[in-house]
Amino acid sequence: MMSRPSTTAILRTGTAGVLLVACAAWVIQARGSQPASGADTPSVSYEFSFPEPEHRWMQVAVTFTELPSEPLSLRMSSASPGRYARHDFAKNVFEVQAATLAGNGLEPSRSGVARWDVDGHDGTVEVTYRVYGDRVDGTYLAIDDTHAHVNMPAALLWGAGLEARPATVRFVPPSGKPWRVATQLYPSSDPLTFTAPNLSYLLDSPVEFSAFADRSFTVPDPADASYTPTFRVAVHHTGSTAALERYTLAIERIVREMVMVFGEFPRFETGRYTFIADYLPSASTDAMEHRNSTVLSSPTSLDGQLERALGSASHEFFHVWNVERIRPRSLEPFDFERVNPSDELWLAEGFTNYYGALILHRAGLVSTADTMDRFLSAIETVLTGPARTFRSAVDMSRLAPFTDAATAIDRTNWDNLFISYYVWGEALGLGLDLQLRARAADGDGPAVTLDDYMRLLWERFGRPGGDIPGLVPQPYAQADARMALADLTGDPTFADEFFDRFVEGHDAIDYAPLFARAGFDLAPRTPGAGWIGAAQFRFGREGAQLVAPAPFGSPLYDAGLAQDDVLVAIDDRPLSSAGQLDQAVGTRQAGERLRVTYARRGELQTTQVTLAADPRLTVVAQERQGEPLTPAQRQFRADWLDSRLPHMP
Ligand SMILES: [Zn+2]
Repeated sequence: MMSRPSTTAILRTGTAGVLLVACAAWVIQARGSQPASGADTPSVSYEFSFPEPEHRWMQVAVTFTELPSEPLSLRMSSASPGRYARHDFAKNVFEVQAATLAGNGLEPSRSGVARWDVDGHDGTVEVTYRVYGDRVDGTYLAIDDTHAHVNMPAALLWGAGLEARPATVRFVPPSGKPWRVATQLYPSSDPLTFTAPNLSYLLDSPVEFSAFADRSFTVPDPADASYTPTFRVAVHHTGSTAALERYTLAIERIVREMVMVFGEFPRFETGRYTFIADYLPSASTDAMEHRNSTVLSSPTSLDGQLERALGSASHEFFHVWNVERIRPRSLEPFDFERVNPSDELWLAEGFTNYYGALILHRAGLVSTADTMDRFLSAIETVLTGPARTFRSAVDMSRLAPFTDAATAIDRTNWDNLFISYYVWGEALGLGLDLQLRARAADGDGPAVTLDDYMRLLWERFGRPGGDIPGLVPQPYAQADARMALADLTGDPTFADEFFDRFVEGHDAIDYAPLFARAGFDLAPRTPGAGWIGAAQFRFGREGAQLVAPAPFGSPLYDAGLAQDDVLVAIDDRPLSSAGQLDQAVGTRQAGERLRVTYARRGELQTTQVTLAADPRLTVVAQERQGEPLTPAQRQFRADWLDSRLPHMP
């Protein structure tokens, strides 16, 4: 999925110049195939109907046949693929009823928080229930009179022990609604009936059921001329058709550019990959990867924020390889009943974040300056984040169940204890890519880049595939990622140093000399200027209140200033605006001492703050400072940032 903005992980949203190609042929292709397994196993049949969509609930009927004699144990998921925190979907389920297919009533007993048991059946059970949902994103269920946006774990009761059975899903639109279905589920001859080869694939298959705008294009596989997957772009939105066309063209450009990293597409199980997008005022900002589809959602119209929407699409499409097929062992097989903690999200999400941004540049969709600012933001977060003292990038990955859309009612100290694995991992991907390129340029290593590393992971763990659709038979462990780097570079010492220091340790990569190779100057933003720490304040008439814990090790922290304190004055000058604070601090030099008057629980006190040097950085292209690039810098930059497509400039 995409990282959500947090105080430690705010990526700059620049005013990216969006360039678009004007060459695409729309080919709408209905391609399907039958599930590869389950021919001899009875299917579980679901029917979704929407008698009162305006009231935001869905009616579900599930039919089980050929059941073993023991009680049928129905489960509701509490984890959703790609979302790393626990989500108790059972809370929205009501009116659970059961009967045999002969019509004999059965009494489901609620034997757990997300579990109903049905005893006394005759080998057949029809379960009916309603489920409420009003959140449009990549995890939950949303129903209203314009659509049903279904993430399956939030909607489906399923039978424990029956996970290998194929499933059939039939959609019944509300009366008079000409709704269609966008999904990665396998199509059938009936446009409203779909199948899944097993429960895992079914739960991984989001659905948009509405009168969405429907676009498709095809892209031939670069390695196999006989393979041309279809890409469907299904957009439920309130924006203009012109914006939709620009969006679709840009997505095609992203797809064409991204496949060049790996050299080939995966074998999409139905021959098709689907972008399901909801850009609606009622939607929440989110993006979620799945095996052969993604869900993209935002309350902002495509007319308003195209480049941001493309950033999400780019990130999620990289997941087609990295996570969906090059998959950490910690996430495979995915356990739908509990959280799936993972050590490897710095690679699974972080490297994906890096490529999400890099491919937008290679595809000509975002300017070089905006791309460098984006990378700078990640670097700064890692360099200045106090949490790096306490935890490694691997440790941060393990915190996902607490930070990925998780909720807590007690106060937390994430600004000090957490750096997003999206951002740290992006900085690691960037640093590793530049290190590999610099070593190659110096003749200190083979001519390989991060693209080659991703390709090697693809060849070892992704491409082999397996017989069961949706499952990954050869997931990787952290040690495999280390070994792949050693094999790629032929230099186990280099690989060990990278993993020991930067991934599993607490060191930060030295980016400035690496950026210089590409002709970018990475330097202090305000050399020598004073700094009190990256604290969060709320300004009011009384002063500047610290609304989050003071950053560990910052001048504020060392002076004893803490959350809830109100800084009233610095050297007797009042502080009622951010401008006044900047003036009081930024005009002074590192090492100078400030007298701070503050209120704690209403009582005025004073303390001395010794200013540190402002650690924030800036990145500027060398040629913009009047210093022309050397041929080596020009080459380095082009190899790194330019399109891989033969016909691109
Ligand atoms: Zn992601």
